[in-house]
Amino acid sequence: MADIIQLLPDHVANQIAAGEVVQRPASVVKELLENAIDAGATTIKLLVKNAGKVLIQVIDDGKGMSVTDARLSFERHATSKIKVADDLFNLNTKGFRGEALASIAAIAHVEMKTKQVSDELGTLLSVEGSIFTSQDVIATPNGTSIAVKNLFFNIPARRNFLKSDTVEFRHIIDEFQRVVLAHPSINFSMYHNGSNLFNLLKGNFRQRVVNTFGGKTNEKLVPVEETTEVLAISGFVGKPEYSKKSRGEQFFFVNNRFIKSPYLNHAISSAFDGLLQSRRHPSYFLNLQVDPRSIDINIHPTKTEIKFDDEQTMYAILRAAVKHSLGQFSITPVLDFERDKNLDTPYQFNGAQASIPKVEVDRAFNPFSKANSETSSYTKPTSESWEGLYVGLESKSNTDNFSQVSYESDEMTSSIFDESTERKVHKTFQLHNKYIINTIKSGMVVIDQNRAHERILYEDYLRKTTVNEAVSQQLLFPLQLSLSTSGISMLKELHEALETTGFVFSTFTDESIELTGLPVGVKESDVSNVFDQLIHDIENEVPDVNFSISDLLSKSLAKSLAIKNGKKLERQEQEYIVNTLFSCKEPTVSPSNKTIFTTIKVDELDKKFN
Ligand code: ADP
Ligand code: MG
Repeated sequence: MADIIQLLPDHVANQIAAGEVVQRPASVVKELLENAIDAGATTIKLLVKNAGKVLIQVIDDGKGMSVTDARLSFERHATSKIKVADDLFNLNTKGFRGEALASIAAIAHVEMKTKQVSDELGTLLSVEGSIFTSQDVIATPNGTSIAVKNLFFNIPARRNFLKSDTVEFRHIIDEFQRVVLAHPSINFSMYHNGSNLFNLLKGNFRQRVVNTFGGKTNEKLVPVEETTEVLAISGFVGKPEYSKKSRGEQFFFVNNRFIKSPYLNHAISSAFDGLLQSRRHPSYFLNLQVDPRSIDINIHPTKTEIKFDDEQTMYAILRAAVKHSLGQFSITPVLDFERDKNLDTPYQFNGAQASIPKVEVDRAFNPFSKANSETSSYTKPTSESWEGLYVGLESKSNTDNFSQVSYESDEMTSSIFDESTERKVHKTFQLHNKYIINTIKSGMVVIDQNRAHERILYEDYLRKTTVNEAVSQQLLFPLQLSLSTSGISMLKELHEALETTGFVFSTFTDESIELTGLPVGVKESDVSNVFDQLIHDIENEVPDVNFSISDLLSKSLAKSLAIKNGKKLERQEQEYIVNTLFSCKEPTVSPSNKTIFTTIKVDELDKKFN
């Protein structure tokens, strides 16, 4: 039988390798920036068009390449960074596999301009799908400029798999931030579709963090410094009150390399124990210096994971250092976060004067004496003080001291405790500030108020964004919000969609936005929460072919604006929810697919009374 094994042609091998190195535009950004740093650049500029789908260009003032090196740089396993296997253990550079440029050139149109200081003229090279299409001598500044256009032009499946510009751009910003934070002594700038998003001058780490995240970041930082034999830590954690709903601002750099470590992340979270509301994440920007021989950086090209020889010690030191810093800056736990709503003062007792329960002791009481049979107990608390705790089970006569109290469920009171009161059918009442209960023919329906409202708002926003009929309320004074630079650029991308819901933006700067109108029903105090949630939702968007920005937007707005469980609702509000819910297209499940209501039939109840 004939031999059947063949060597793959280079361009095919490169395309396959590219699949590993280049997952999305952000991967290209990372590789190009790292090459520029390895080339000793002091100023690096990143230009991006359409979230990198059209163009990614990195211009550096590094050492440049000779003509031969420029050509070689596109060959697979061509690297100037290691010569023998031993070099692997003394790496000071970012890249070393010599795969990035070859991979990128296999799946895009690449144009390189490069010149070394010692040379009079530089080189221009064009490569399309691994094939050199031109080579020229040109006049160009010292350093290298690499432009990557039409990523995945020859792999349509990959190109189609890319997510929306907003999401891809978010990934680019993530990579950019990781790189710039690891290298505060290099000047960086970044432009997206011609507008300048970052202009970061070299400085110390604190300045870099502040310039990267903008605005008020400086006030939020608590320094962390610790030097031990195995580990030196320096950097900052964010004050607890600035914790985020999203995991956005969490950065570990080990020996100047961004890494992800769920284990060390846990060390930080646990140092914040008791300081954060649930589902909030602390921000941190921490540099860890360790002996390079004590770590194993996974050499998979895109992984950012790392193994430490002694993880547990690292964990303990890190946790202690962060705790110590939080303590030093007298950030002490606030105990009433996330309190159990059931322990709150019930209903409208808030603000009411509390009176000390009076205890009358009937000293003559003898439990065995018949004469005392009316007094069922020898201590008799007076009703005023704590009967209120049993609101709903108590008759009204005892509540004179609390005439301002409105009962949570006086219907239940009347129907159960007062047979004479006419039973009002179809009236709603609220249970535990969480469920709305309504009688139906077969029995009753129990509705989760939060989920019901989320469904109502979702359908409402979805309709408004599609037919463009939202109404805004004009603000008396424009509302200024400062957000992270990346948050702002995401909102900027989305602003047209947001305007269809009723937001009116007047200005966008790199650090703040100004609004002059809000959707009807949205309060000024809601806005920052709404945007936080939205940014969080975009960041965590799950890949989905049916991705639609108005859907995401409507879901996100509904989630942040829906009335929460724990809120007491007036009768009209309860009725509104019930009526509107059942006129929704999909009243059974919330936008996130959770059950909205359940019914309890009379015959089910009957069975319980058998
Ligand atoms: P690696 O970075 O792993 O060596 P790359 O494919 O990223 O592999 O780059 C190949 C080689 O091209 C590098 O080793 C370096 O010599 C050269 N090179 C790439 N980018 C630049 C740049 N911006 N300036 C100077 N040399 C560069
Ligand atoms: Mg490289």
